[in-house]
Amino acid sequence: MKKIGVLTSGGDAPGMNAAVRAVVRKAIYHELEVYGVYNGYEGLMEGNIKRMELGSVGDIIQRGGTILYSARSEEFKTDEGQQRAVEQMRKIGLEGLIVIGGDGSFRGAEKLTQKGFPCIGVPGTIDNDIPGTDYTIGFDTALNTIVDAVDKIRDTATSHERTYVIEVMGRNAGDLALWAGLANGAESIMIPEETETFESVVAKLKRGQDRGKKHSIIILAEGVGSAVDYGKRVEQETSMETRVTVLGHIQRGGSPSAYDRVLASRLGAKAVDILLTGAGGRMVGIQNNLVVDHDISEVLKEKHTINMNMYKLSNQLSI
Ligand code: ADP
Repeated sequence: MKKIGVLTSGGDAPGMNAAVRAVVRKAIYHELEVYGVYNGYEGLMEGNIKRMELGSVGDIIQRGGTILYSARSEEFKTDEGQQRAVEQMRKIGLEGLIVIGGDGSFRGAEKLTQKGFPCIGVPGTIDNDIPGTDYTIGFDTALNTIVDAVDKIRDTATSHERTYVIEVMGRNAGDLALWAGLANGAESIMIPEETETFESVVAKLKRGQDRGKKHSIIILAEGVGSAVDYGKRVEQETSMETRVTVLGHIQRGGSPSAYDRVLASRLGAKAVDILLTGAGGRMVGIQNNLVVDHDISEVLKEKHTINMNMYKLSNQLSI
């Protein structure tokens, strides 16, 4: 193996830059030539690929977003699109590709590997929804952004008697809502996997009100429904003044946390090690603080699960 490529794809996540840096530096350490692919699979098909040197990834470990940019591509999902990508890589002489992204991006990596081009997946998504790894790159940073925002909302909440409904990201996975809910001491956490009934949330709010509680916080994952609609229903049912905050894209940005930078460095480096063995079709991850790798196709067959013990605990602590 002499030449490898790296790209970022799908939804961006803080820490992707730290992962790109680790891939580039580790590859150069092993005397490989390394190429950055711009705009994800879109750029791969178009041949938007540039040689990276040690300095190309200087001063990016602390930056959010991704210097390689990210994109979504429908064309790449087709056989012809994937063939175009393989041809572009063969033209430069690339022999392996590291894909930093979420499960959609991993499906692309799986397809390229099946076409004879070895790819390694590095989990980069704030959703923490990839099986085979305890954490994905970006989750910790996004979580801390939410916790900080909710702390601020709580400060103003104590001045008024109000219920706050806060919508966080997570279409299919409730990890951000669950962890933020526990970290912020929320009264209720609404996640797509397991959601308290509306009646039970209302009953809890009323109990709190009877106890003289000044305010309540409900964290709702976007996959459960609109926080605005939910807030209206809460106000109607409890006649408590209700305010809604949709945190939106601030959750995707910001300087990566120390944890995400370290995770990205470990996983990016491991991906290079695996390519050096000649293997492809693997995904790297962290489990019990050990860097591991799995067959990417096996991982894609699995379903992400939430830690139900944590969900139960949050209910016990918010009685
Ligand atoms: P994420 O990687 O964050 O889950 P997406 O699901 O949007 O983001 O996937 C990113 C890109 O990966 C898509 O735009 C597409 O080009 C590629 N991709 C997704 N699913 C497939 C698939 N089944 N086959 C090939 N490529 C795919």
